Amino acid sequence: MALRTPDQYIESLRDGRVVYYRGRRIPDVTAHPFFRVAIDHAVIDYRLAEEPRHRALAVARDPESGEEISRYYVIPQGVDDLRKRSELIAVATRAGGTMVTLIKEIGTDALFALHALSSQMDKALATKVHDRVRAFYRHCARNDLALAVAQSDPKGDRSLRPSEQEHPDYYLRIVERRKDGIVVRGAKVHTSVSVNSNELIVLPTRAMEEQDKDYAVAFAVPLNSPGLRMITSVYSQHREAREEADYPLSSKHRMLETLTIFDDVFVPWERVFLDGQWQFAGPLALGFVDFHRFTAVSYKLPLLALLTGSALLMADYNGVSRAGHVREKIAWLVSYEETVRGLLATAAQQCSPVVPGVVAPSRLYTNLAKLRFAEHYHQALAYVQDIAGGLLVTAPGDEDLANPDTAADIQHYLGGRKGVSARDRLRAIRMISDLTASEFGGYHAVLAMHAEGSIEAEKLAIAREYNMKAAVAYAKEMAGIE
Ligand SMILES: Cc1cc2nc3c(=O)[nH]c(=O)nc-3n(C[C@H](O)[C@H](O)[C@H](O)COP(=O)(O)OP(=O)(O)OC[C@H]3O[C@@H](n4cnc5c(N)ncnc54)[C@H](O)[C@@H]3O)c2cc1C
Repeated sequence: MALRTPDQYIESLRDGRVVYYRGRRIPDVTAHPFFRVAIDHAVIDYRLAEEPRHRALAVARDPESGEEISRYYVIPQGVDDLRKRSELIAVATRAGGTMVTLIKEIGTDALFALHALSSQMDKALATKVHDRVRAFYRHCARNDLALAVAQSDPKGDRSLRPSEQEHPDYYLRIVERRKDGIVVRGAKVHTSVSVNSNELIVLPTRAMEEQDKDYAVAFAVPLNSPGLRMITSVYSQHREAREEADYPLSSKHRMLETLTIFDDVFVPWERVFLDGQWQFAGPLALGFVDFHRFTAVSYKLPLLALLTGSALLMADYNGVSRAGHVREKIAWLVSYEETVRGLLATAAQQCSPVVPGVVAPSRLYTNLAKLRFAEHYHQALAYVQDIAGGLLVTAPGDEDLANPDTAADIQHYLGGRKGVSARDRLRAIRMISDLTASEFGGYHAVLAMHAEGSIEAEKLAIAREYNMKAAVAYAKEMAGIE
């Protein structure tokens, strides 16, 4: 099968999947206006592949069959593959009003990690998992599928291992091994794009020990599998189409997460990638994160560029571009954006093979980029909001500007420096309000903090990668210590 059209993608979501939202079962996500925003947002990935100016970036050739496949599915073999992947993610995110589309990005991150892990595991334990991973990868690439990844477990008491928890279901586990496959029970949390993907890849979230071996499980299932239930987050508000002018980003772009329940879901062996090999749970969790944090920083860059652009635009509109403190804040925003960009480029440049035929970006530089982004995001919001002013939350809406009773007042009082109309200034303010102060802005702020792993997880990865022995040896040498 060739690349899918946007309509084929949308049609594929009408498959009887079990989705709940605000206390009700949603029989068809494609027909529900709230879900439809998330689906139309995800369509960007399919649309880009059809647009002549993006086609060369979005479409590649399958090296085995020669068929056209989405570039997201290209297994990175060198710097150029990583750069193009990163560029495609950034282009899609820009088209998505700073919201990542994610329906192919996260799933391919998992597939790359599974390629590497299964090769290593087959070698160490004489398992035969690599062929299963390859078959599933081909199925996804050739059918141009949308994929979600469920890695995060509910985790209960974070200080305890899976097998030590108050009840056995705080981490997803195998409850039955049958001749034809396994049965899994439990839940995953924060599962992005599950309501609008075709397949769900499930990975362990942490390293395991022998007593946790039933929790060391990885597999893939279609999202309409019997026993799979999704309960959708209520965080994002539903915007009416008429609110587009007031909420230019969130009225068109949305990503949805679910609490994803596995009520004794059956998985046939050909879709099981880890089945009790507890020693490989940690390496798989980490291997996925190596690719996924690189994806993450790739989709953060359009967001940072928009924050910098917003600060510059509002400084100009408000006539404060030359003020010392404003210049300082803009210099900070530029250096923040460009530092993250530079670290990401270095992560691609310093990639290395994990197994023959698969390279991963540098773990050190990917985590440095992600940490730099996450630790400073709220400061960047503060600077942009400072420069933009309080109208971010006090401005009248577009309908007031359209009403002849109020339009003249708004135009008279809410203009900016000479030559800047109230209409343009309010447009800029509404976009920045949506980006930084609406629930869309709040979502981005929590996404920055937690998605792809919390700040402490990045610090841990950086500390592990840094050559501390060499640093200590150098200090000793300088101090004249034997
Ligand atoms: C918008 C969004 C989308 C997401 N999408 C996905 C997705 O598609 N798939 C997926 O699998 N996951 C997804 N995630 C999950 C994300 O990876 C987690 O939120 C992240 O790993 C943090 O886990 P948590 O939310 O359980 O927070 P916690 O782990 O509870 O973290 C809260 C605090 O506790 C600290 N902490 C936790 N455990 C310990 C410990 N043992 N010792 C000391 N301190 C600890 C953390 O450092 C942090 O400071 C998403 C998250 C968000 C916000």
